Amino acid sequence: MIDANTIAKVRAGLQTPRRMLIGEQWVEAADGSRLETKDPADESVLTTFPNGGVEDIDRAVKTAREAFERGPWRDMTPAARARLIWKLGDLIDANADELAVLETFDNGKPIGVSRNLDVPFAAERMRYNAGWATKLTGETVPLSLPFEAVAYTTYEPVGVVGHIIAWNAPLASAVAKLAPSLAAGCTMVLKPAEDTPLTALRLGELIEQAGFPAGVVNIVTGTGEVAGAALAAHPDVDKISFTGSTEVGKMLVRAAAGNLKRLTLELGGKSPVIVLPDADLDKAIPAIANGIFFCTGQVCTAGSRLFAHGKVFDDVIAGVADIARSMKIGPGIDPETTLGPLVNGKQLQRVTGYIRSGQEDGAKVAVGGNPVDRSGHFVEPTILTNTRPDMAVRREEIFGPVLCAQSFSDEELDELAAQANDTTYGLAANIYTSNLSAAHKLARRIRAGTVKINGGGLDQGVPAGGFKQSGWGREYGRDGVEIYTEKKSVIATL
Ligand code: NAD
Repeated sequence: MIDANTIAKVRAGLQTPRRMLIGEQWVEAADGSRLETKDPADESVLTTFPNGGVEDIDRAVKTAREAFERGPWRDMTPAARARLIWKLGDLIDANADELAVLETFDNGKPIGVSRNLDVPFAAERMRYNAGWATKLTGETVPLSLPFEAVAYTTYEPVGVVGHIIAWNAPLASAVAKLAPSLAAGCTMVLKPAEDTPLTALRLGELIEQAGFPAGVVNIVTGTGEVAGAALAAHPDVDKISFTGSTEVGKMLVRAAAGNLKRLTLELGGKSPVIVLPDADLDKAIPAIANGIFFCTGQVCTAGSRLFAHGKVFDDVIAGVADIARSMKIGPGIDPETTLGPLVNGKQLQRVTGYIRSGQEDGAKVAVGGNPVDRSGHFVEPTILTNTRPDMAVRREEIFGPVLCAQSFSDEELDELAAQANDTTYGLAANIYTSNLSAAHKLARRIRAGTVKINGGGLDQGVPAGGFKQSGWGREYGRDGVEIYTEKKSVIATL
């Protein structure tokens, strides 16, 4: 529980307009323009921050390039880099309450989630990746050449990285990108989402406090259309690492063509949840509810398409609906809240628009279905039944607390994987059953980057990413560091 004094102090601190970080300076946008960030729980302006543009991105990229080519960063030993990254993790822990309050004000998520999940995850992500700095070993290669030679491989930092992130887990996403790219030895420009810049900017202060050389991490705030697009198109950026929508991901692919930038894309999802008739419903029902209502459904891996066997369908719907009805809807800063607001008005329009379109297409509302009549961007946790595969609510990512359900029969069991795969996305899938053989058979046939059997979480060591239009590449684990490297082969005649 975070005490009222800390909350009041953070709120008072928001009186100070923010600046962005280029090199060792906290600066305004070159043209002096600013944006507002608002509290999604009541639409009040929290503070303002620079509306960075093309010139600012160019300056930040030049600074990152200078730090990469000539700064002390490239000459530091991996162990020295690891110590700095670890220290940043400890500083995140030391400032956990403040970061959690900032995150909840800016994004709207329940304070318990910010404090007990997002912030500890961010600190742990730093420490996990600190370990990789000293362990990115290459290999020696047995040669079959007609002369005596030796060959080995090394991992080198890819160079200057542009990180562009979404608003749904602002601190966790920023750290998810920074930690492994720092471990790999890159320098970078981070562009946070325009709805939620606050924790990324606070992180910038902690990066300075930890003692990272100037220019290694630069943070430019601004819109996607201007600052994001300028970073994506910049000819001196070696790689873009992106978390966001599939639509923008495709724009980045086009923008990368100019200098053949490397790309990692963590995009949208429409993840299936399969409940077989032998599932342990006491465990499955709360997990299914959490899978779609957690953070108001604004989670890329949200389990949004439910396929429950006819024998258990009614029980599953009734159980998840009971949980939906019991959720306490309110501002995230209230510790009692279990369902916070959506991040902005556009997102509220989008979610309620999908619920309406589902009903027009013949879906039935089992619970919820309406915006909440209060200020802020609140919507009820919702279940739509009688959904069909051709409906927009079943095909498109809603990014809200809306579960689209259908039942299946014994005769359709063979078709289940095909139905689960009937989407352009392939980020995650969930299977609930007591029959592990059936679970693993299904897991094999489902085209998704992560398959969870009877639940599962996000672990620093387990690679995550998307099949199909859910992305390119994998974050987390060793893969998550290698994406920030180039592999070099050295071969020498002896
Ligand atoms: P978005 O694509 O609109 O924006 C994401 C980021 O891209 C923001 O920083 C934005 O400013 C920037 N951006 C927007 N237009 C741009 C452009 N033309 N050029 C460069 N940058 C641009 O996504 P969003 O609405 O902020 O986030 C929701 C989406 O993110 C959902 O689709 C969700 O599934 C996805 N997401 C994916 C993951 C994952 O790991 N796969 C995690 C979280 C969110």
